[in-house]
This record gives sequence, C-alpha cells and structure tokens, in this order.
Amino acid sequence: MNNGSDNTKNGKKNKVKRVSSSFNPLAAAVIIVVASALVIGYCILNPEYAKSTLIIYICTMVCATLILAISGWIYKNRKTSLDVSDVIKITENLNTEMIIWSDDFSFVYINRKLRELLGISADYSDKKEGVWAAFGINTPDSTALERIVGSNSYESTFRNPSGSLISIAWSTSKVKKYKKRDVYLSTGFNLTELKKMRLNLANANDFFHSSMELAEIGLIMSTDRRVFRASPELSHMLGLKNSSINVNELRSIIHPNDRLQFDGAIRSKDITASKNLEMRLKSADGSYRWYSFRLKSIIGTGNTAPLFGGAVIDVTQKHEKDILIERLAYMDDVTEIANRNKLVVTGQEIYDSCKILDYSFWIIVLDIDRFHIINDTCGYTNGNFVLKNFAHILYKYVTPGGLAARISGDNFALLLRDYGDEEMPTRTVKAIQEDFTRLAVDDFASISLTCSAGYSKMPEDGGSFLEVMEHAEFALKSNAGIQGSICGYEPSMHDSIIGNTELEKALALAIDNNELQLYYQPKIDLSSGKIMGVEALIRWIKPDGTVITPDSFVPIAESSHLIGRISEFVLNEGCRQNKLWQKMGYSPIVMSINFASSDFYQTDLKEKVFEALARSALDPQWLEVELTESLALSDIDFAVDQMNKIRDLGVKLAMDDFGKGYSSLSYLQVLPITLLKLDRSFITDIEHDNIAYEIVSAVIRIAKSKKIETIAEGIENNVQESILRMAGCDYGQGYLYGQPMPPEKILDFFEQNEKRDMKR
Ligand code: C2E
Ligand code: MG
Ligand code: MG
Repeated sequence: MNNGSDNTKNGKKNKVKRVSSSFNPLAAAVIIVVASALVIGYCILNPEYAKSTLIIYICTMVCATLILAISGWIYKNRKTSLDVSDVIKITENLNTEMIIWSDDFSFVYINRKLRELLGISADYSDKKEGVWAAFGINTPDSTALERIVGSNSYESTFRNPSGSLISIAWSTSKVKKYKKRDVYLSTGFNLTELKKMRLNLANANDFFHSSMELAEIGLIMSTDRRVFRASPELSHMLGLKNSSINVNELRSIIHPNDRLQFDGAIRSKDITASKNLEMRLKSADGSYRWYSFRLKSIIGTGNTAPLFGGAVIDVTQKHEKDILIERLAYMDDVTEIANRNKLVVTGQEIYDSCKILDYSFWIIVLDIDRFHIINDTCGYTNGNFVLKNFAHILYKYVTPGGLAARISGDNFALLLRDYGDEEMPTRTVKAIQEDFTRLAVDDFASISLTCSAGYSKMPEDGGSFLEVMEHAEFALKSNAGIQGSICGYEPSMHDSIIGNTELEKALALAIDNNELQLYYQPKIDLSSGKIMGVEALIRWIKPDGTVITPDSFVPIAESSHLIGRISEFVLNEGCRQNKLWQKMGYSPIVMSINFASSDFYQTDLKEKVFEALARSALDPQWLEVELTESLALSDIDFAVDQMNKIRDLGVKLAMDDFGKGYSSLSYLQVLPITLLKLDRSFITDIEHDNIAYEIVSAVIRIAKSKKIETIAEGIENNVQESILRMAGCDYGQGYLYGQPMPPEKILDFFEQNEKRDMKR
C-alpha cells in the first residue's frame, strides 16, 4: 500500500490512509536476504550438496527476478489507468473544488481549493466532520450518500468560516473499488458568484419593473414589426392577456381614426428616427384612452434584426387639458365652431401646404344679411340661435381637411378643398342659402333669412392666408347691400381704384392741389317739408373733371394718416360754408359732417372742432358730427368720452347708419347722441317689408322716449316718405329731395326751398 504523496504546498506528510499497490520492494529484499541466509547455512552444513544447492538457488533467484521484473512492468502499466495517489496529485492544484471519498466514509481526500474554502488545513484527518460540510451535511450516512451519488448535480449550501454563504454544485462519479468499497470523485462547481449575480439581476429586474409601474410607463418591442412584446405595465394598461401581441391585434385596439399614423410608423423606412404618436387605444376598462407612443428603432449588433419599439404613456389627462385649452383658445363660445384665431392658424397651415403640395383651397366668407334685424326684433337669445344654426349648416359643408369658423359677429368663413370645379363655391353657398332659408319658421317665420358671400382661392389670390381672406372679404363687400349676393374675387376689382399705395400718393397730392370738394345733400323736416340741414359728403374731383365718390378712397385714407387731413378739411370747409350761407342770408341750417373712426381716437379732437368753429365764427348748434355705429361699439368708453367732449361744445351728435352693423337699441341708453340716422337698408324696401317697418317704428318710438331725434337715409319715393312720417320719423334724406350736390347747385335748392316756405 502506497502511503500517498506529500501534500506539495505545506510539505507535511498526509497521514490519512491511502489506497496503493500490493507490490512491496522491502518485503522482497527481506525474502531474498532470508532465502540467501538459509541457502548459505544449508551449504555450510551440507558441503557435498553445496554446489548443486547454489546452482538451484541462483537459477531460482534469476527466475524470481525475471518474474518480479515482468510483474513490475505489468504493474507499472496498470497503475497509470487508476491510481488514487495520482488523482490526488492532479486534483491538488486544480482550480475547482474536489473530494475523493469511499462509500463507508472511512477515506476522504479534499483538494487545496476546497480546503481553503472550508478554512481547514491539509492535516484534517481528526476533523473529518468539517469536510462533510462541503456537501452541506454534518455526518455522512447512507441517505446522504444516496443523495450525493444519485443526483447528477447535487447542490450544497453552507457557510464558510467567515460566515459567507457558499453554494456548490457537485458532480460525483465512482472512480475505483478499494477494499471492496466504492471510491468516488466529487467535482464541485462554485455557484456562489453566479447566484449573487442572479440575485442582483433579479433585483435589478424587479427594480426596473417597479420603476416602470410607478412611472406608469409601458414598453413595447418587436424585431420584425409583426409580433410585439409588451411589458407587464403595458399589458396591465391595455388589459392584454399575453405579453406578446401581433400587429393586427394591436391595430384592432387602436381607435379607427388613429390607425393611419400607426400604419405610417410601422411602415416607416427611416428606422432610427424616433416617432411620437398620440393615439387612442382600447384600454383595460374597455374605454378608449389617449396614449403617447415614443417609437424608435435601434440597430442590433451582428446579424440581429433592428429592435423596434419604445415607451407608452397614458396621456389621457394631458390630452383632455389640451382639448380644453384648445377649446378656450380656438373655439367660438356661441356657435361652438372654430373662431377667428383657429381660422387664421389653420388657414395659414393650409396655405403653406397648398404651396408645397401644389393644390388649392377656396375660402368663402359669409355674412348673414341684416342680422341686426334678427337681433333687434327677436332678441339676443334668438339671434344666437340663428348664429348657432348657421354654423351647423356650414359645418355640413366642410370637406375633409377643411374648416368652418365664425370670424366675428355675423361673419363666417368656410375653407374647402378645390378639385378644379370653379362653380363649387357658388354651388356650396347656394346650398347653404337654401338650408338657411328653411330655418325661417316659428319665431323667425316673418324674417327672410339670407346670407351673402365672397370667395377667393388660395394660394393664387394672395401672398398669405390673411391676404387671401381679405380678398374674399373684399369680394363680399363689393356687393354689400345686395342680399344673397355671391361674388368671387377678381384682381381687376382693384383696378377701379388703382393700387392702394399709389392711391395714397395720388390722394396726398389731391389734398395739396385742392382736388377735394364737399358736396351737400339736403335733409328735410318730414313734418314741414322744409330743409333743416345738409350732409357734407366728400368728393375727389380729378383735374379732368372725373368725380370720385368717397367709397373708393375714404377706406384707403382711413388706413393711412390721410384721413386726418381729410377730416380737418371737411370740418373747416363745412363750418366755413355753413357760415357763408348764413352770411348770404339763407335761414340757418345744420351742417352734418362725417368723422372716421380714427378721428375719434385723436385726443385733441375737441380742440380741433373748437378751432374750426372759432375760425368760421359758426355757432356750434349749426354743426353736427356723424359717427358710425361700428366706431361707437369698438371702444364704447372712449367713444362716450369723446362724444361728451364734443357735446360740451354745443355741437350736435348723430349716430350714422344705425342698424347697418351690430345694432343694439341698448346703445341709445349710453351714447350722448342727439340724432339717430336710420340706415338706408331699412328704408329701401320699407313699403313692402313689414318687418323693416316694424323695426323702424319701434326704433323711432324708443328714440323719442330718449329725446333723440330720428332721420331716415335713402328716401327715394313718396311712399317711403309718408310711411316714415306716419312712423313718427323727424327728418328725411335721400334722392327724393336731392342727391349730394356741389355748393353752387345747392343754392338753387335753397332758393326753391325759401320760395316754398314763403308760399306757405
Ligand atoms: P353716409 O354718411 O351714410 O352717406 C350717405 C350716403 O348715402 C352717401 O353716399 C349718399 O350719396 C348716399 N345716399 C343718400 N341718399 C341716397 C338715396 O336715396 N339712395 C342711395 N342709393 N344712396 C343715397 P356717398 O356720398 O357716396 O358717401 C358714402 C359714404 O362715404 C358716406 O356714407 C360716409 O360714410 C362716407 N363719407 C362721405 N363723405 C365723407 C367724409 O367727408 N368723411 C368721411 N370720413 N366719410 C365720408
Ligand atoms: Mg353720414
Ligand atoms: Mg349713412
């Protein structure tokens, strides 16, 4: 038996019994010495046999040596196949834990790696129990043996001397039979670090999922864009049964209106650019909720396909807030359709797209004819009802990508895609008009509900959306007063008044060259038929004698500083002329002059009026300033302040064109006016339009109750005159009495008036 090798590191003799071979050279030497001594003794005692005995002995020795040599050679060869001592030598320095042990547990060898782990020295024969700790057992028995040998990978867990938990997976195999006992070799695989890593990974995974759950962020991923993996949080959000969902299933839970953008993202060839989608998805509770998808592709390493996916966040609340903000900013309160702001923003976006994509859109601007009548006769609630219904009618005609909006008061706009049909705007407006007329039932039965429209096309009709819209408005205004008119914008519309800037220059020159002149239109006292005043109406007399009416240049002058100079001229000339007529001996009459809205924003207006009166020595009672309703309404406090200042001078104040814009009788309460001029539009058809008559009568009655005089504009025939007289209107003005005329001509009118007066 070989007693085993030294343990190389510490050099100490390992006293544990070792399994070894049966050949012993010392025993052989002793046998040879004893045998030789016996032979020599025999030869001495029997000399006659000494020779033959020695020969036999030597032959026997040679044979024995030969046998021994041969058997030694055989032994040597057999030993390499399974020698425990050799195994021990090899395993001693192996970097893995090893135990060699016999099934009766009488023999055990552990290698250096395991000894270090267990904290035991090479001399451990007296502390064998400590060794079994490596198998996680205190005392070995047959059950333990079964467990260790019976399992392919027996896992043991134990604490090392420093208290750390160690895990080892053992693989055990029988290596030898020794003294009828089985000898086993157990090789260990230290799982301690791996377990730690797994634990860390599990913790990190848990942390990751908890973070995603806390942040309510779902994740979605796919390598082929056909099958998606959903994170637990996303499955929770969407109520998915599986963590994998195919593209069709995913698409089916997306709101139909949002599927297009999803399809676009899935098919996008630009794989690395991230995409932000906001879509409605059917959620766990079955309702559609808004989700933000931040999708991106990341290129995989090696041959792996790009990973497509990203974060999914429920943005329903934010979306609801956005919708609310959008509603507040972009929705008209009364009609609940888009307001002007929305129209301008969307319009400009469409305009830009038209330029890029080479298509066109119509903008139709609509105005409800004589909306003020509805307001005045039916009240605001009914007025709003009409606006709402008009908006709904418009909404019906909105085509995809288009828009219906309320621009202001009774002005609306429609944006419609143009498909090359030039008749489309007219046809659409006519259809709207028909629908609108049908609304004239119940409370509105006696009112003719009509609307007028102007339209233009973008991008060709202007350099920006606003310009195109202005041109549509320009077209609408070009037919102002004609109910139900539909007018398309033509660039030639501007030709009649030449370009604005050129007109400005020409007008400035005209003022310098005294080409402006006042015409006068008589105003008649309806009860006496006598002239009681004139309205000064400006004319531009070109050097060639052409007379240009104010509608062609006053709006342009109003948009520049020129209106100030015109108003100053009108004020001074009106006062001078009126005083001159008085000096000429005509009965004093009231001179009415028109002021533009911008005049009322001049802080020295009162001073200017005062100076004109002083310069001409005209008594203030013979001067009247006409202001338009829109002016008064745009900044009521300021207007009232200015009016009071002028009234303080003793000058009369008239509200012009009453009923043309957003008429409200309530303004009569607050404005310090002395005269109300009923707009021509009321008078034009008063003999046939019962409603117009009712309104006019009512307005006159109310004005009278407020001690405000009334004058009707645009009286063209005697029937109108008598109706107005019957209605209690104080004064009249119109072609029936005379058109606006130059000063020399009005003198004839005065003469005839004086003669008529004398006859009475
Ligand atoms: P407005 O002040 O309402 O003047 C009445 C307009 O009605 C005048 O047009 C007059 O010619 C027209 N008119 C009067 N009676 C009849 C009628 O029986 N039938 C018809 N069809 N029309 C009638 P005009 O002179 O062309 O003036 C148009 C507008 O220009 C005026 O409306 C006024 O707003 C503005 N305007 C005129 N002169 C001045 C001025 O000196 N300064 C300012 N700022 N605006 C002026
Ligand atoms: Mg006027
Ligand atoms: Mg007027």
